Amino acid sequence: MDILFESLKKKFSGTVEKISDKFQGDEKTEDTAETKKEPEAFEKLEEIEEPSEEEKETEEEKSGIFSFITQKTISEKDIDDIIFELEMSLLESDVALEVAEKIINSVKEDLVGKKIKRRSDVAEFTRESLRKAVSEILGVETQDLKEMAKNAGKTGEPLKIMFVGINGTGKTTTIAKIATFFMNEGYTPVIAASDTFRAGAIEQIGHHAENIGVKLIKHKKGADPAAVAYDAVEHAKAKGKEIVLIDTAGRMQTNVNLMDEMKKIKRVVKPDVIVYVGDSLTGNDAVEQASKFDEAVGIDGIILTKADADAKGGAALSIGYVINKPILFLGVGQSYEDIMEFRPEWMIDQLI
Ligand code: GDP
Repeated sequence: MDILFESLKKKFSGTVEKISDKFQGDEKTEDTAETKKEPEAFEKLEEIEEPSEEEKETEEEKSGIFSFITQKTISEKDIDDIIFELEMSLLESDVALEVAEKIINSVKEDLVGKKIKRRSDVAEFTRESLRKAVSEILGVETQDLKEMAKNAGKTGEPLKIMFVGINGTGKTTTIAKIATFFMNEGYTPVIAASDTFRAGAIEQIGHHAENIGVKLIKHKKGADPAAVAYDAVEHAKAKGKEIVLIDTAGRMQTNVNLMDEMKKIKRVVKPDVIVYVGDSLTGNDAVEQASKFDEAVGIDGIILTKADADAKGGAALSIGYVINKPILFLGVGQSYEDIMEFRPEWMIDQLI
């Protein structure tokens, strides 16, 4: 898990360092030279009218080693090149263009005009502005599946979750993980093998279901996927199971027939939640696919798999903002327990 979002992390901490280094240079100049250089890093220099308590604290500070004698204001010119570099490196990490732009504009808006008294202020302000920018990006309203499951338990109507996405992203493994997650919460799920299209798909999900001890509702290969899902819902109602997890055929977003089939499942079982499962390693492709699935069938949330192997982190940072749907879970490994609920605050703490 050390690898998680490593590159984004480095980029943000690099930005904090570079901006504060810029001001350190200037500070030293002030200490050592009588004659002032062109004040490159600062737009204006003003006397501090009321020195704060800390500034009176030590001799060293009075001598200006750790604090500025004068108050500085961060100018656009001070940070422009560093912010540009940040934007480039966010794009390299697969952060979507609109997200990278929003982050740098927010940081710029926050920092330019900020008055600083000592160098440590710069690092703190920069870090704060980055945290704020990222929290704006991750601030999509989320859905609490646990809460929804609790309500389903009360009403007797099972919570129906339908999973969509292309093949190979980890969709079937994710369904088994979500089943495990809910079993750990004390619920009994049932899985619908509604991928009746791909050879071996029923066996694949059946294998997972058997491993975790969950009932699988299946028909033959080629059967109507909507009928399979319908039967799974009926089974859940009859047996008092609270959760129905519906697998669907992995498909490219361009396959019209399969997209129509997916719409039919939606029409027949009326899922409460449609979850797009995407592979975080595919970066912008995952974002692009999610938006296509959203257009076709309307998704309510996202699960990104393989976050444990994702050094870049661009998809995790961008996807929720770009399609305005929350990330619900992250897949973080190959075992059935390797799934975690996604919390924006957690992601912000990981990154900055
Ligand atoms: P599907 O074709 O989309 O149903 O994909 P599978 O569920 O069969 O998963 C494809 C591969 O990805 C398998 O080897 C899984 O073990 C692996 N996988 C799924 N989720 C994760 C994850 O969160 N982390 C890692 N490292 N591997 C995963």
